[in-house]
Amino acid sequence: MEMYRGKASFKGVAIGRIAEMKKASTVVRRTHIEDPDAEIERYHRAKEQAQSEILALKEKAEKEVGEAQAEIFEVHAMFLDDFDDSVENIIREQGVNAEYAVAATGDNTAAMLAAMEDNPYMQARQTDVKDVADRVIRDMSGGDGDANRFSEQVILVADDLAPSETVQLDKSMVLAFVTREGSTNSHTAILARTMNIPALCQTPVPKDADGRMGIVDGAKGVIYVDPDEETLAKYRRMEEEEAEKARLLKELKGKETVTKSGRKIRLYANIGGIGDLNFVRDNDAAGIGLFRSEFLYLQSKDYPTEEEQFKAYRTVVEMMAGKEVVVRTLDIGADKQIDYFHLDKEENPALGYRAIRICLTREDIFRTQLRALYRASAYGNLDIMFPMITSVWEVERAKQIASEVRAELTAQSVPFKEVPLGIMVETPAAVMIADELAELVDFFSIGTNDLTQYTLAIDRQNQKLDRFFNPHHPAVLREIQMTIEAGHRHNTWVGICGELGADPELTETFVKMGIDELSMSPGSILPVRKIIREMD
Ligand code: PEP
Ligand code: MG
Repeated sequence: MEMYRGKASFKGVAIGRIAEMKKASTVVRRTHIEDPDAEIERYHRAKEQAQSEILALKEKAEKEVGEAQAEIFEVHAMFLDDFDDSVENIIREQGVNAEYAVAATGDNTAAMLAAMEDNPYMQARQTDVKDVADRVIRDMSGGDGDANRFSEQVILVADDLAPSETVQLDKSMVLAFVTREGSTNSHTAILARTMNIPALCQTPVPKDADGRMGIVDGAKGVIYVDPDEETLAKYRRMEEEEAEKARLLKELKGKETVTKSGRKIRLYANIGGIGDLNFVRDNDAAGIGLFRSEFLYLQSKDYPTEEEQFKAYRTVVEMMAGKEVVVRTLDIGADKQIDYFHLDKEENPALGYRAIRICLTREDIFRTQLRALYRASAYGNLDIMFPMITSVWEVERAKQIASEVRAELTAQSVPFKEVPLGIMVETPAAVMIADELAELVDFFSIGTNDLTQYTLAIDRQNQKLDRFFNPHHPAVLREIQMTIEAGHRHNTWVGICGELGADPELTETFVKMGIDELSMSPGSILPVRKIIREMD
């Protein structure tokens, strides 16, 4: 088995025979001509033909991959228009054939683009220019533009692939694209993404891979040639899982999350930042149940300013277009350490200075975040959630600070909305006093990751204790039940945003317990929706 590593342009797994792309030959000879006018005329006829071919490709691409992706062919037509002066000049001045003049113009323009080091987009266009030149040359010499007909589905390997070549291919026969050159910025990569085909670029696959078996792993950015049985079996399983996910996605997207008897459950997504919003949309989340805002702090070199945070929160609520977005206030400490907070080293960090404990002792940080959150509330449907609550006074104090922030914004005439306030229930203490806490807040979200660690007295980070770490432990399940019941006694909705919320073995249990919302990583949403829709 051989393995070659490249850059992944699009994730996914493909298993099949490798086929080397056959390029239509465009070897150009330089010959002297007697009649430059006739040669220029020949160039213009070929150019017209090339233009109508490009138009046809654009229409084909529009149908197959959408208008935005098809725009590259307009760029091709533009490049071609810019060829005239240079081609005519070379024909006249050098007295040479049109094919040579077009090839030289294509090469010169490509070299100019290649030199644009500070503009990766334009740099990646050199393949496009060469493709346009080759097309005109082919049209002048009657070459064969369709050398790639496959009798089985293949992993297509090429030095590089022009968008026109990609569009011309019979996509039902292509399992993946692998190129030795190219960039993740190239339109071929973009087209591949839109067509849902795994794609790698800058991958040094040898030419003799042609005709051999291959596996493309788009997530890892590798291609295996002649894979061994074990690798093949592993990837076949992955391929089946992906196919199942894709099938689910098609079948369940846009459908309600409702049991047969009509109970609706809100399936929300957990996110760490704006970058995750695509997955939220792709997986049809009804809202965001946990935005771990500490990632804004973790990605920053210093305390993120109110303005920076406001922009991030506003983007998320705006992108979610009126759907509920629960933002959890800063939850650092324990396993999430940030240098610029200068936190002391602790013997027992999981039981130490973390989350709401930091916010209530360093109020400046907390107030900045709350101001940003309230300001963003004016742009969508935002909820605020406090983490690591153990006592009533913590919630009372957090609410007090929130009301002072609101008063400040009102005095400054800064717009904000009424924002539901909730807490994470992730300590056994919070479960035990859930009735009192429920009177103070609008919602509970059960953090089963920490709740399990604190209930079982097992560090969630310690792999040596995996054998003892049982998230299905009856104590944890009973705590979830108690929290739901206490919440409902006080009109407080209850969700789960810890990993357990996505556990398909417990979906039915949670629904029967009366859970209102489950928030999970986006990829788990549709499989859980499937289970709920099949429940009575
Ligand atoms: C949890 O504890 O279950 C939770 C969702 O929060 P985190 O994993 O960020 O601690
Ligand atoms: Mg937690």
